[in-house]
Amino acid sequence: MRSLRCIAVDLGGTQIRAARYTVDGVLEARVGMPTGAQESLASVCQRLKSVIRQVWPPEIPVAGIGIGLPGILDYKRGVVLRASNLSGWVDVPLRDNLLDAFHVPVFMGNDAHLAALAEHRFGAGRGVSNMVYLAIGDGIGGGMILNDTLFTGGHGRGAELGHMTLDVHGPRCHCGRRGCLEALASGTAIARRAQERLERGEDSLLRTLVDGELAQITAQEVGIAVQQGDSLAQAIFAEAGGYIATALVNLMYLLNPELFVLGGGVFRAGDAFLAQIQEAVALLAPDNYREQTRIVPAALWEDVGLWGALALVMMELDL
Ligand SMILES: [Zn+2]
Repeated sequence: MRSLRCIAVDLGGTQIRAARYTVDGVLEARVGMPTGAQESLASVCQRLKSVIRQVWPPEIPVAGIGIGLPGILDYKRGVVLRASNLSGWVDVPLRDNLLDAFHVPVFMGNDAHLAALAEHRFGAGRGVSNMVYLAIGDGIGGGMILNDTLFTGGHGRGAELGHMTLDVHGPRCHCGRRGCLEALASGTAIARRAQERLERGEDSLLRTLVDGELAQITAQEVGIAVQQGDSLAQAIFAEAGGYIATALVNLMYLLNPELFVLGGGVFRAGDAFLAQIQEAVALLAPDNYREQTRIVPAALWEDVGLWGALALVMMELDL
């Protein structure tokens, strides 16, 4: 069994990456290539097979292939119902397609679910039985480990933490509803809020950081301005951090997790946003919950998608 390997694939909107790991989690090979998401479904599938072949020499025995992708999956049938950033990916029987090509077990997972699984098995959540992972980037994704098991819901659509409503009168979310966490506190929402306030004429370092090109502002610039003591940027982080903290306290009441792991692009701009969230939770959470729940940054960054796909194969095959 120890000589077996696992193949992990991270199918993203811009890059497809594949890696070969031992069943002890040692990385042996890794490759990547552009997804070519604007091309046909058949051509993306060809690239997917090609990256797998590049990390899998025919003489090496493989236990299984794991694939993470940003979309809604029918886990039972191995079908991609819909994938964001991959046009034309509707009802794609990806598992059978890869089974026919490679003749080993194939497992698929939503990328945020698998990031939670990766942090639980290899990262910040090791040794914890109940944890919630929140990825705050352009959008907000989530994954949950409950009683040491990945929770995906009845039909694979569970843990969509970005679409919890926090303000019924809030800004419109792309899902069509108002005031979802994602519409209030994602990197996109933070940038939009900064742009709105600058357009109203408020004073801020942000204006010089982007040479007056307000459309260039992202959560990264807001983070830089916070580090330099800019009060508008601080207010924006406090507002967004307050919404995240409110969501975390709701989840504390609902699930009583031991740990929250926070990942995603917004945290790359420094520790200020995380500190803001921790501070707000300390004010909002009842004492017992606050003492029993840690909030930590993710441990796996660039490779979280690959680690997640590996963790999925190991979970499914009991490795
Ligand atoms: Zn929404």
